[in-house]
Amino acid sequence: MKGIEHLRRHNVDFNILSVIHKGNVGHAAEIMAFFAQEGFSYVQFIPCMDFRSQEPDKPGVYDITPAEYGRFLREAFDYWYNGGNPQVSVCFFDNMLAGYTNREAELCIHRAECPTTIILEQNGDAYPCDFYISPEWKIGNVATGERSLRPEAGIIFAPATRRFMRMRTSG
Ligand code: SF4
Repeated sequence: MKGIEHLRRHNVDFNILSVIHKGNVGHAAEIMAFFAQEGFSYVQFIPCMDFRSQEPDKPGVYDITPAEYGRFLREAFDYWYNGGNPQVSVCFFDNMLAGYTNREAELCIHRAECPTTIILEQNGDAYPCDFYISPEWKIGNVATGERSLRPEAGIIFAPATRRFMRMRTSG
């Protein structure tokens, strides 16, 4: 909370990203009440994953089950809905609403296709997604000029990016 006080003192906008794990998955209403009490306007939840889940060739390993996460989101929704008068933006619910109203979801996982995002590591290595950080999926390196970030230089259309984009569309 000290960090947040610091951000507020300097008028820096921030969002809250809350990791949902075994210890808090049963406390959605309590968490939402805490956010409301603290005046947090933009919040986001993600289910806790094992670090191994960042290895693209291994299946995701989650700390909670889909049913537990579903119950958490349902309880959070009931608090958030507030009789039809939500007071905060909850990223997941905003994305669901976007889908229901034929608008493009903000989060890539709720879109029909992966966006052409570029993830940069500290050393300049570029990848198409932060779940695909491995030599097989490396697009280039912006520090060494292996490929530049200019689209005309091809980083967006690098072979690894094209292969990555095809995976999602080919189902
Ligand atoms: S693969 Fe990456 S970019 Fe595509 S939806 Fe999943 S997280 Fe988003």
